[in-house]
Amino acid sequence: MRGAAGRRALYPGSFDPITNGHLDVIERATRLFDEVWVTVFSNSQKRPLFDAAERVALAEAATRHLRGVRVDQSRSLLVEYARSIGAGVIIRGLRAVLDFDYEFQMALMNKRLAPDIETVFMLTRENYSYLSSTLVKELAAYGADISGLVPAAVEAALKAKFASGRETGPADRGRNGE
Ligand code: ADP
Repeated sequence: MRGAAGRRALYPGSFDPITNGHLDVIERATRLFDEVWVTVFSNSQKRPLFDAAERVALAEAATRHLRGVRVDQSRSLLVEYARSIGAGVIIRGLRAVLDFDYEFQMALMNKRLAPDIETVFMLTRENYSYLSSTLVKELAAYGADISGLVPAAVEAALKAKFASGRETGPADRGRNGE
């Protein structure tokens, strides 16, 4: 492992779209690591509202003020990608018990595939514990107020998406649309 690898962390996710909950994790992670790579992964199980390029652009706009943050996208296997960028740590966020099973399973599988890479869990801030991309999209689809839940660029992008009338709303896309 390269010397700097322990200081470089990867925060992978769908980020469809990035929320203030994600941003809070990223901000806190920049205090622990020299570099935090926020990487948009295309998950075959999920049909996103925003395409990968849009999700990257929104994540870039939301993190521009933060030093040491890079935004990227990937379709690779997570641990292979982490190795390719020299990240020794994968950051994941935990909101509630509900997240735990899935995160636990994924972290153990990644450990098996790449024993040299550590998964680090960061607890959500109390006031973001109920915040998810899915919920934000659902609210936006109904025109509800989402200010304070997402960065300004995301709020504008969601308004534009649902104002176009082409989107039918999360309810029509199935439960796994996060
Ligand atoms: P994924 O599809 O990989 O779960 P997400 O974009 O939904 O991607 O989430 C990325 C990571 O951020 C996950 O570890 C998730 O648990 C975490 N996360 C999502 N929302 C919050 C939040 N409000 N507070 C803390 N962590 C969060």
